[in-house]
Amino acid sequence: MIVDERITDYIASLDEELPEYLKELEKHAIETETPIIRKDAESFLRALIEMKQPKEILEIGTAIGFSASLMAEYMPVDCHITTIEKVEMRLKEARENLKKIKRAEDVTLIEEDALTALKKLREEGRQFDFVFLDAAKGQYHAFLQDILPMMPAGAVLLTDNVLQEGSLIESKYVIERRDRTIHMRMREFLYEIKHDERLVTSIVCVGDGMALSVKKRS
Ligand code: SAH
Ligand code: MG
Repeated sequence: MIVDERITDYIASLDEELPEYLKELEKHAIETETPIIRKDAESFLRALIEMKQPKEILEIGTAIGFSASLMAEYMPVDCHITTIEKVEMRLKEARENLKKIKRAEDVTLIEEDALTALKKLREEGRQFDFVFLDAAKGQYHAFLQDILPMMPAGAVLLTDNVLQEGSLIESKYVIERRDRTIHMRMREFLYEIKHDERLVTSIVCVGDGMALSVKKRS
């Protein structure tokens, strides 16, 4: 939680309920400690999709397919999702879960390391007008180098977990040694997307912290 837990709970309590299959998937993810988008960030993602009306969504970090299923439920009829995951244990569940959804034919699961997959998509000349970046936090900078060229003007990049449970504001000396690299890299990443001339970025205290970036039109 990066803001008062009661505020987060209150906001979540106002949410419209999810369809039954998404509720079950969410419950299963929480029970098995699979990382998924935070409850209070679900409607933020939905609102952005409703506003942007994307045609091509790219997700980096499928896990078991919860956020991909959520986006598929609410995306426009002519929209397609490409989602990338590399961990076999997660892929096993993602394949099954994504097969079961209504829009299954509109979701492509790429089973590969995202760095390799992104390079291939870029080589193929693919373009994505909505990107949900939610994989290895220490690799965000590396991913961005291939993502940005694939975003046309007006495209949206939503990056998850950028405030690291709030620990991002702490001095690196307070951060446990094993978390220091990620701490440093996330700060560099946020600096990068805030100062990149091609982007307008707002860092929002929703969920575990999200960065909303829009590719400038000129
Ligand atoms: N977007 C999901 C949660 C993703 S959790 C949801 O909200 O439902 C992050 C996922 O990214 C993990 O499953 C992890 O295995 C995957 N991941 C991390 N680094 C990766 C990489 N380099 N390539 C592909 N997947 C990666
Ligand atoms: Mg996340």
